[in-house]
Amino acid sequence: MSWDRRKFLKAAGVGALAGMGWQLLRPGALDAAELIGKYSPNPSQLAVKPGGNWGMAIDLTKLDDAARQAAAEACNIEHNVPHYVDAEGKASKQDIKWIWEAEFDQAFVETENPYAPSAVLHNKVLVLCNHCQNPPCVRVCPTQATFKREDGIVMMDMHRCIGCRFCMAACPYGSRSFNFKDPRAAYFNEKDPKTGQPRLQEVTSEYPTRTKGVVEKCTFCAERLAVGLQPACVAAAPGVMFFGDMSDAGSPVRAQLNKRFSIRRKPNLGTEPQVFYLI
Ligand code: SF4
Ligand code: SF4
Ligand code: SF4
Repeated sequence: MSWDRRKFLKAAGVGALAGMGWQLLRPGALDAAELIGKYSPNPSQLAVKPGGNWGMAIDLTKLDDAARQAAAEACNIEHNVPHYVDAEGKASKQDIKWIWEAEFDQAFVETENPYAPSAVLHNKVLVLCNHCQNPPCVRVCPTQATFKREDGIVMMDMHRCIGCRFCMAACPYGSRSFNFKDPRAAYFNEKDPKTGQPRLQEVTSEYPTRTKGVVEKCTFCAERLAVGLQPACVAAAPGVMFFGDMSDAGSPVRAQLNKRFSIRRKPNLGTEPQVFYLI
C-alpha cells in the first residue's frame, strides 16, 4: 500500500481514535455519549441504541475489485491485521483475516441458482464475521472471551482468550483466525519471500495490537461506532456497503433491504447472520 493511500484513509477518518485501547470494546467501559458527534455528520444514526441491532448489507452487483480492495485495506490498516504470505506471495494458511475475498459458490455453498445474474454468480464476494443473532462461537467459549453485546455485536476480549480455538471449530463461516505467530513481531520481522527483506507493515498506534495464541476477528468496528463513525470497510466502499440499526426501518441498511432482494450465508443453520448480500 502506498503512503498516499494510507494518508487518504486516515484523512477519511479511518484510524482516528487516539489512545482508546481495548476499553472501548467492552460494553459499558466508556461513556460513548461524550464522543458521539465528534466525528460523525449524523450521530443519531450511529449511536448505540439499547435494543438496537447492528447489521450490514453488501451490494454484490456493485462490488468490484476496487471496492473489495478498498474495504479490506481499510480494515487491515485500522485494526493492524497482520498479513502472512507463502513463498509464492499468496496468503499463507496462518494469515489473519477479518474481511476477505471469496468465490460466490464458496461463500454461498447452499445457494444453487444457475439463473442468478452472471454479474453476481461469477463475481467475488467479501466475507467477514456475520455477527450472528444466534452465534455458536459464543456458546462454546469457556471463558466468555467472545460474547454478544446488547447491540448485537459478537465481540472479543483478547485478555480472556486462552487460545483453545473452540470458537473456530464452532463457527460455520471460518470467520475467526488464530495467531500462530506473534503479530507484533510480524509487523517488523516477516520477510518478503521474494526479496528476503523484512516486509515492514505500518502500525496504527491508535488501535491495540494482539499477542500470539489468541483468536481474533471482525468486531463490526465497535470502536468507530462508539464515536459515531461508520465501519472502516463501509466508509471505504460508499454505495456498495451499507450499515445501520436493523431495528430502525429508516437506517441505511434497512432502506436497502426494503427495496432489494438479499441472501445470507448458510441460512439453514439457524445462526441468523446479520450480514446481508444484495443481489
Ligand atoms: S460468523 Fe462465526 S464468529 Fe461470527 S458470530 Fe457467527 S459463528 Fe460467531
Ligand atoms: S479461543 Fe478464545 S475466544 Fe475462542 S473459545 Fe477459546 S477462549 Fe473463547
Ligand atoms: S466492520 Fe470493521 S472490523 Fe468488520 S470487516 Fe469491516 S472494517 Fe473490519
